Amino acid sequence: MNNNLTQRLRSCTTLPTLPAIALKIIDLANDPDADINKACQYIALDPALTAKILKTANSPIYKSRRTATNVRQAVSILGTHAVTVIALSFSLTNSLIKQSGQYHAAFDNNNFWRRSITTALASRALGIKAGLVTLDDLFLAGLLQDIGILAFGAMMPEEYNEVFSSTINHDELLQMERETFEVGHDELGHALLKKWHLPDYIAMACLTSHNQPPPKEIGPSIPACVAVSRHVADYFIDPGDAKKIAVATEAAKNWLNLDNIALMDVIDNMATELVMVEELFEITIHQPEEIAGIMAEARELLAIQNLSKVRELEEKSQHDGLTGARNRGYFDEALQREFYLSSQHSLPLTIAMIDLDHFKKINDTYGHIAGDALLIATVRTILNQIRQDDTLCRYGGEEFALILPGTTLSAARKLLARLKDSIAAISHQLEDGRIVKVTASIGVAANMDGNANFECPADLIKASDSALYAAKHAGRNQIIEWNNSLPTFN
Ligand code: GH3
Ligand code: MG
Ligand code: MG
Repeated sequence: MNNNLTQRLRSCTTLPTLPAIALKIIDLANDPDADINKACQYIALDPALTAKILKTANSPIYKSRRTATNVRQAVSILGTHAVTVIALSFSLTNSLIKQSGQYHAAFDNNNFWRRSITTALASRALGIKAGLVTLDDLFLAGLLQDIGILAFGAMMPEEYNEVFSSTINHDELLQMERETFEVGHDELGHALLKKWHLPDYIAMACLTSHNQPPPKEIGPSIPACVAVSRHVADYFIDPGDAKKIAVATEAAKNWLNLDNIALMDVIDNMATELVMVEELFEITIHQPEEIAGIMAEARELLAIQNLSKVRELEEKSQHDGLTGARNRGYFDEALQREFYLSSQHSLPLTIAMIDLDHFKKINDTYGHIAGDALLIATVRTILNQIRQDDTLCRYGGEEFALILPGTTLSAARKLLARLKDSIAAISHQLEDGRIVKVTASIGVAANMDGNANFECPADLIKASDSALYAAKHAGRNQIIEWNNSLPTFN
């Protein structure tokens, strides 16, 4: 870390000071053989803290059948480590809330702690879903992940104020901190937690809270839950924002392999435990009457997101990768459907086969990449001119099929002439300045138009194919309409 800033952190006199009891509890948290008697003794020194520990031990969060009436009983229900960590959460928050109010004008103390407690809640709920057992540690690590923001405020209120008040986006804030001070609140927070001698795993979670997700094979961990928790909290605090829930979903998937349904359980759990946590930390995150609405909205957003993912996949599977035209599978289905509608309701249906001329030669002369560019340009040109109900499909390599529902042959004539001319007008410039041009031959046939009635979709295709063949035969770059005298192929 930036040496200058570490120095300043070490000697800074404006940093919040920890109460004696917090320091003692930190010692206990660092001691694997922490003495239960000592823990009880320290906590009992602070009646407000004792009350909170008892309330926590008796809360539904711990689902204990026994009721604790003193700290010793609480320790026997929760274990020494859990009680120590819970006591730390309370005593740190309590003393820091009081001291952090005056840092800088733009700093909204209440908002900072609302967010921190929500990230703690989210981190714990994510841990439950990911199958972790260190839930109290998760709460504390989640709670302290942005403590670096407080450290900045305490050390350099004026300079930090400018950076802090210029954005409401948390990731952007980190970026700007790094640009301005060479250090982000993740690193500074880590240094502060180390200075306070908080256990390493808590300080580390703060340091990695903005990292990129690790490779998939690494399982759930405290840092992973903490890194996801800020995204879940951002949504929970400002619900209804589809973008925020999308970011949270992405993070939950990448860091913890949790899907949308699991994320909904996480939000559910946060809503259930919210009242208890608000009461214990004496802060309001949401009004009780808002909770049902938040849940319903989250459920709806996650469901929409699921649906749009399915749609996206469907869309992808229906398009040709190179040109973006519909693919052959989509064409076959669409043709079946349109042919049936046309025959049932006597509606005209026109099919045009469009094949690029001498394409092999173009490839041979200018290379495949130039050929690809022409295919893409051809599709763009056609898509720009057809209606929404019309379907353009890449039928084969350089052959396209166009379905024009509700269109007679005479109505299609004008459009196809325009398409043919605009394809001929395409000019693709190569890097060396040479211009590549292309033309197309078009065969067209219509169903339920005059006396032309076909038995099945395949016959309609054969008819337009034979018209295309005739167009090639007649010299290319032209349109031929199918008629009875043309040979058909099988
Ligand atoms: P015609 O005027 O009779 O249609 O002649 P043609 O050369 O266009 O027809 P042919 O069927 O002999 O050759 C088609 C060429 O299209 C051969 C093939 O390499 C090229 N082709 C097919 N798919 C692609 C593709 O995706 N990219 C490129 N660059 N070329 C392709
Ligand atoms: Mg952060
Ligand atoms: Mg061709």
